[in-house]
Amino acid sequence: MKVIVSDASRKMVYHRGGCIYAARIKSAHRMTLKMNDAVRHGYHECSCCSGMKGAVRVSRKALNQVGQDIAFEYLYDDKSDTLFIRTEFGFWKIYQKESGFVLYHCSRYDRTKTFEALMHDVFHRQSDVPAYESLLKHVNYIVEHDRAKRIILEDYKKLPQRTKKQKKYYKKAEQRARRLQIMRVDMLLDSLKTGKPLKQLA
Ligand SMILES: [Zn+2]
Repeated sequence: MKVIVSDASRKMVYHRGGCIYAARIKSAHRMTLKMNDAVRHGYHECSCCSGMKGAVRVSRKALNQVGQDIAFEYLYDDKSDTLFIRTEFGFWKIYQKESGFVLYHCSRYDRTKTFEALMHDVFHRQSDVPAYESLLKHVNYIVEHDRAKRIILEDYKKLPQRTKKQKKYYKKAEQRARRLQIMRVDMLLDSLKTGKPLKQLA
């Protein structure tokens, strides 16, 4: 991660981009360097922009921006030092580990549940996403994930198949569509047998 320091201040503090205190450093004294190098030179983290809370603080503008185009709600929980995000197709949590920010996905997203209830639901580590130093990288992943879900609902065949990861994802969607088809047929047969109306499949 790149951080910002002042070469004139005796406070020896480093900041994330977007920190209000970094913005106060005059350009003549502003230096951008790798966090590891800053630490090696005796700088320590700023209490305003460090940690999970600080990352949310400096990302607030970008987070609010996401919510303008798609369903996107977020909440930083002080007690667990975790950021929770709710979108149309998923519920997520992000927290900070030594390796970076890690992303967890709510295992069974029940959209009738309240935000509060979902915060205490079951999560799994999103295994195809590494620990990122950038919080917004995770946010981008979540947005892309939602976009893919929407395409699958419309038609999985429209999913891109360029990269290896995309091909794997396509295969999964294809299998899921087949499963749903089988379930639909089963349900249709069931409803014919029992005379009960068909339930809508998610
Ligand atoms: Zn700062």
